[in-house]
Amino acid sequence: MQITVLGAAGGQAPGQSLTGFLIDDAMLLDAGTVGSQLDLAAQRKIKHVLITHAHLDHVSALPFLLDNLIGRVPGPVMVYGLPEVLQALRDNIFNNKIWPDFLVLPTPEQPVLKLQPVASGKPFSINGYSVTPVSVKHSFAAAAYLISNPGGTVIFTGDTGTVTELWQTVSGLAKVHALFMECSFPREQREMAKMTEHLSTDDIASEVAKTGRGADMPVYLYHCKPEYCEEIAAQAKTINHLRVRLVTGGEVFNFIG
Ligand SMILES: [Zn+2]
Ligand SMILES: [Zn+2]
Repeated sequence: MQITVLGAAGGQAPGQSLTGFLIDDAMLLDAGTVGSQLDLAAQRKIKHVLITHAHLDHVSALPFLLDNLIGRVPGPVMVYGLPEVLQALRDNIFNNKIWPDFLVLPTPEQPVLKLQPVASGKPFSINGYSVTPVSVKHSFAAAAYLISNPGGTVIFTGDTGTVTELWQTVSGLAKVHALFMECSFPREQREMAKMTEHLSTDDIASEVAKTGRGADMPVYLYHCKPEYCEEIAAQAKTINHLRVRLVTGGEVFNFIG
């Protein structure tokens, strides 16, 4: 499993792009950043998009991706999300007002976009991976995704406040390749993080402790608000007993198995 970080920030600024992870070459996890980092040939390889939640910083590149693909790829792009999230995309983006309804274009029989609802705790398969959504605490509906190959599991929390169910699920995994974990704010903004259902660097150690897993699990922080990214990166180094650091756009991870 190869993971390319297209964007890892919770806002936009020069050098900071919105959240998007490319998994191998056919799967995306969130679509805040796509077309600004992938050429057209690479965009045409994308067949599956996992959406954590409907906030604009996680879906804003999806309309432009589909616009590049329509009429140029044989099959649809499958977009996966909780039912409420997919409904929000239909109602508010692909509604023939903000953007064309790609669910019926270029033809209703063979559209460029198909929506596939997923359920928390119910695994499904994509390209040989087992993918499990787990509901988290953010916005009106949000999910983390666990993506497993025979060698282990990569976890993406998506945006979330402090949670229990996700960490219980992670505690039961046989092997974890890595935990990609949101951290939007530095320690000093802990209250702001709580109010907006995000995590601060102050929450990382206690949340990771809920998994019961040791320091052998790499923890990669992402979704820093641009003005705080440097501070979060510095504070991450002070979190004891964890292989934890901030990730940035352009990084590539390879997980065996
Ligand atoms: Zn976000
Ligand atoms: Zn959000």
